[in-house]
Amino acid sequence: MARKRHTYLMKVGTHKYNDQLLLCYSPVTDRCMIKVAINGYGTIGKRVADAVAAQKDMKVIGVSKTRPSAEAFVAKSRNFPLYIADISKKSPFEALKLPISGSVEEMIKQADVVVDATPGGVGEKNKPLYEKMGVKALFQGGEEHELTGFSFCSDCNYREAIDRQFVRVVSCNTTGLCRVIKSMDTAYGVKRVRAVMVRRGSDPGEVKRGPIDAVVLDPITIPSHHGPDVQTVLPHIPIVTMAMVVPTTFMHMHAVQMELARPATREGVLEVFRRHPRIGLIGKGTGIGSTAELKEYVMDLGRPRSDLWENGIFEGSVTVIDNDLYLFQAIHQEADVVVENVDAIRAVSGVVKEPDVSIRMTNEALGFKPLR
Ligand code: NAD
Repeated sequence: MARKRHTYLMKVGTHKYNDQLLLCYSPVTDRCMIKVAINGYGTIGKRVADAVAAQKDMKVIGVSKTRPSAEAFVAKSRNFPLYIADISKKSPFEALKLPISGSVEEMIKQADVVVDATPGGVGEKNKPLYEKMGVKALFQGGEEHELTGFSFCSDCNYREAIDRQFVRVVSCNTTGLCRVIKSMDTAYGVKRVRAVMVRRGSDPGEVKRGPIDAVVLDPITIPSHHGPDVQTVLPHIPIVTMAMVVPTTFMHMHAVQMELARPATREGVLEVFRRHPRIGLIGKGTGIGSTAELKEYVMDLGRPRSDLWENGIFEGSVTVIDNDLYLFQAIHQEADVVVENVDAIRAVSGVVKEPDVSIRMTNEALGFKPLR
């Protein structure tokens, strides 16, 4: 059973946010903040920590590392208390003047929600600890759906995540697919989806990963795991996906085809995308036609770490022929799941009941601005 950390918040009162009444949400009282621990301070964990720290209703109570690294120095520079899984390995940190606040268990004791951002498969090993300590935990897309029995995407199933103890935030590719499919399913109905994923070979900092000179079918067989993973969130959508890995680090690129149930026009589809809080339309006028130019553009716009949190849909690619929609979208693997984690924290905490309210709060705190 998860600990009931928020019962006192009910007494704090209500807060109005864009005409919606939120129960027990107060942006000013530290006591009312959701206390978040980040177990695994790597590519995803460090971004989630910064995004949480930017929210008015959340507080980072600690982040964890296994051994000293550049990221441990980043945590220190952000004033995030640093915890370690194995407290007997404290001295190498202290030798580098990296103060350790305690063990991961001590960190979890103070947390309302743990974001487990350890490498795929490690989250499964950590789950018994979260169970023992009765804390709520989010896992990432590197874990199997079966670990939690519930896979999350903010605008698809936020309400179903409310008050759950364990939630898996789906992977970057699945998040990108779920967002665009759900938007079209709501507007027109989706009969079937076919999508090809051209995946980045590694994250920019992963110097030991490849491929260096190959297009790798990943896997050779069809479908790739992405289609079934979308169905953990949107079970009624028939979808077949194919995937390959290429020697690039910036982003994934998806070629998506959707058969829509009701008649659609290109302009109508673009209007749905324009209104979507997590879809960024890359305007024709920008001249951008690659992940490299898009990354440069996002960096020039001043986004932290040049992160693209939304789906980058190339406006010029959006085409409707009969009832079939075709498009290209860029998915920034390091970034799109970050905002989903922030929403999932609110959902499992049960503090904000409406997905659009949480999405707006998350986006505003991060300073989302349209791409065009
Ligand atoms: P990463 O390797 O960059 O970071 C993981 C961090 O966890 C590292 O700092 C590592 O030192 C630390 N760690 C390892 N074992 C630990 C333990 N037992 N306790 C505490 N910390 C531990 O990995 P990542 O890319 O951030 O991936 C994390 C999760 O997010 C995975 O499930 C992955 O599939 C998923 N994900 C990754 C991406 C991506 O593109 N990087 C995108 C979406 C989802």
